[in-house]
Amino acid sequence: DQVREQFVVGGRLGEGTYAIVYAGYYRQNPEHRVAIKKIKLNAEFKDGIAMDAIREIKFLQELEHPNIIKLHAVFSTKDQNLSLVLEHLPYGDLEALWKNKDVAYGAADIKAWAIMLANAVWFCHANHVLHRDIKGNNILIGPDGGIKLADFGLARGFADPGRPMTNQVITRFYRPPELLYGARYYSGAVDIWSMGIVISELCIRNFLVPSNTDIEQITAIEDIFGTPTDADWPFVSTLPLYKMTFDPANIKRPRPHSWWLQTMGILGSDGIDLLRGMLTMNPLLRLDSQRVLYHPYFANAPRPTMKEMLPRAG
Ligand code: ADP
Repeated sequence: DQVREQFVVGGRLGEGTYAIVYAGYYRQNPEHRVAIKKIKLNAEFKDGIAMDAIREIKFLQELEHPNIIKLHAVFSTKDQNLSLVLEHLPYGDLEALWKNKDVAYGAADIKAWAIMLANAVWFCHANHVLHRDIKGNNILIGPDGGIKLADFGLARGFADPGRPMTNQVITRFYRPPELLYGARYYSGAVDIWSMGIVISELCIRNFLVPSNTDIEQITAIEDIFGTPTDADWPFVSTLPLYKMTFDPANIKRPRPHSWWLQTMGILGSDGIDLLRGMLTMNPLLRLDSQRVLYHPYFANAPRPTMKEMLPRAG
């Protein structure tokens, strides 16, 4: 394979749920470092149709944006595994940043991360690509302090979920209510929900809706956003899993606006309005990526911090 020959694969950088990541570089230019992510394919893709998987993922190579991790190349190896050659970004991620108590940041920094994330998501959606796995841990920090959206869920679709390589649980904290209720259709609105969760976590420096099971996840969401009804979300009661958690004796009310002001006050009232627009239960009423970008929060004071000035870990 000519593509594979272009790269030299080095030592192991890390291991995730469905892939092993190696350091590497361009054979012609050893200064140009890359990260090579070797995905463990499931049986279906292992049986000789890895080429289709490659074609499907190749279009990600055409998505070039300053806030999206660069996919340099895709190739398959002798053992029929799929390897993604990615921009090498060893500077941490947004989840590690809010967890690091040595890192202090404020309203203008959160706005800077939010606008970069909103730009990345808008760009994906404008190109008809859903990310499907937006979370703080998949938002990497670049060498210039900017953020880069990484780990498109597409790759995970080819991976073998039956053989997780670590006992790490795939997080469901970012899953929108329509998927938790079992909707089979979904749209860009799933990414907008996840983006809202990420921004809320930057504000509270904690997980907004942690859980251990899908049912607990629904409960955690309803505790904040209330139990959806057909009045505010037509036909929600017809979704396959809605009835599993619905209890007519315990219909939850959404938290009042004062709760948002107390919890997410750092965003200001315009930022809270944007956040609540992204975290709207009904996916048809949720803001789309264009509306997010045009929200007054981004034009109002404070101005977002320049990326070079953003706090970094370590
Ligand atoms: P997870 O999302 O569970 O961390 P990944 O498979 O995405 O799993 O990555 C595993 C590890 O590999 C990461 O924790 C990180 O240490 C390293 N890694 C992943 N992508 C890159 C990259 N582009 N540049 C440098 N290191 C990376």
